[in-house]
Parts: sequence; structure tokens; C-alpha cells
Amino acid sequence: MINALSIDMEEHFQARVMESVVPFQEWPKQESRLRQNVHRLLDLFQKFQARATFFILGWNAERYPELVEEIRKEGHEIACHGYRHMDIYRQSPEEFRADLERGRRILEQITHLSIRGYRAPTFSIRQDTLWALDILIEQGFRYDSSIFPIFHDRYGIPDSPRFPYRIRTPKNKSIREFPLSTVSFLGQNFPVAGGGYFRLLPYALIAKALLRLNRREMRPAVIYLHPWELDPGQPRLPIGPLNQLRHYLNLEATEKKLIHLLKDFRFAPLGEILDREERKVSLPLVQINEEHHREILEGLKF
Ligand SMILES: [Zn+2]
Repeated sequence: MINALSIDMEEHFQARVMESVVPFQEWPKQESRLRQNVHRLLDLFQKFQARATFFILGWNAERYPELVEEIRKEGHEIACHGYRHMDIYRQSPEEFRADLERGRRILEQITHLSIRGYRAPTFSIRQDTLWALDILIEQGFRYDSSIFPIFHDRYGIPDSPRFPYRIRTPKNKSIREFPLSTVSFLGQNFPVAGGGYFRLLPYALIAKALLRLNRREMRPAVIYLHPWELDPGQPRLPIGPLNQLRHYLNLEATEKKLIHLLKDFRFAPLGEILDREERKVSLPLVQINEEHHREILEGLKF
């Protein structure tokens, strides 16, 4: 079984928890650590022959076009993470469309490829932002990987499917969804395979969860990480105790854990794994409830 590996390619100061201390206008003044952190990832991936999807923020691609090219040349998939890392539920559909288009075009200009994959900032495709899927389809995206089937204060659609599916919108168009991996236990879904969860959980538990997905449920997992999660040397910003816990805990252990993971499992980009899954089984179709969708769109006030 080959699993999917993804990197949300952003700087340490672009994470959601940094917003109150580093607003967007302040980004250019921050210490950039992206290039060195991405190089560490690329070295590891090359050493263990893993390939990944890089969901790249347009703002970063603009500053480091040669890094985007390097990632592509090493056989990884280039995908879109929007332009300025704004949660979708804080944008109007027009603002979202403009941000997405800007991010996508920058990547297409650098790589001369059409960009197929999208991941929303902070997994912000939720029940109230499903309208974003129509805009993804309209801009030629072939899959999304933003819907977390869990309960969380900021994101998630708890009862959504745990494995790849096709989602049909009220406009009768569809797009594939590759949800972030969870294990199901006592009727609840638990995230295991990325970000803070990956940093906090012991490796043995993560490996066990992946084996359970691969062997018992016979499905691929999606791992997601950020380049800054392997960087214990990043500056410590005053973000308050809870956010400090979320952002800085266990940074020094992440690289070791990732090496274990790369030794024990095989990885490829999301787009390839999805194509492979679709050849094996026909993906279940989920229809968005039209009335519910309309109510949300009518209720949107910006
Ligand atoms: Zn992000």
C-alpha cells in the first residue's frame, strides 16, 4: 500500500495562530526560514525515495520561484494553498475566487503545468463553506484535500466520509475529495496523521494507526506536515500559552519521527494516489443538499 504525503508549504509566521502577532502586512519583515526547511524535507524525501504533494502558498511561490521549480524537478506534485492563507469562512465567494486564482496563476506561470490539487488554509472547507467547491471546479481543480471528518473548534465536517469520495455540488458538477486521515474508534473519528497530532502522538501509535488504515481498512492514509514543524530553531513569537503549545511543542522530535515514517511506509503525491484509488474502486458520490447550500449562501454577510 502506498500512502499520500503532503506538505503545506508556509513560513512559521504564516500559521493561523500567528495572525494576531504577525498580520499579513508584517509578513515581509519576518525572518524567512522556508528555503532551508524545504531543503531539509527534499533531502529526506530523496534519501528515502518518497514523493509528496506540496500545497504552496502563492505569496511564497512569488518570493521563491526557483524553490517551486526545484520541488517539481525532484518529482513532487505542485498544488495550491491559496495566495495569502486566509480561512475561507472569512472571505466572500468573490474574495475567495480572487485569492485562489492569484495563487494558482503564480504556480502555473512558474511550472507551466495546470494545477490540479487544492488544500484550504487551516482546512477551512466546512459545512458553511462548501460553496468553495464550485469555485475550485470552475478554476479547473481536479481534487480537494481540505475536509477533516472530525469535531474541532475551527474546522471539520464530523460526519463526512473518511476515505476518498466524489462530491457533487448543487450546480451538478463534481470534484474528488481526499479527506485528512483519521482512525475511527467508538463511533468517533480521531486525527492521527499530521500537524500537531503528528508532533504530539508517539511514533508507535501513529504507525499502528497507519497499519490499521492500510491493512484492516485497505485504504491509503494522508500525512500532512509544515516545513516549520521540523525547525526547532525558529524564533519564538508571543502568541499566548495555548497557541504556544499548539505551535512550538515537540518541534525537535518531528524530524526523527518523519524519518521513521519514511523508513516504514511508502509515499507518493495525493493526485497519483487518488487516480490509483479511482481505478480500483468507483469513488462514493456525496451530494450536497441544495436547500441547505442556498440557505448558507443567502445568509452570508460580508
Ligand atoms: Zn496552511
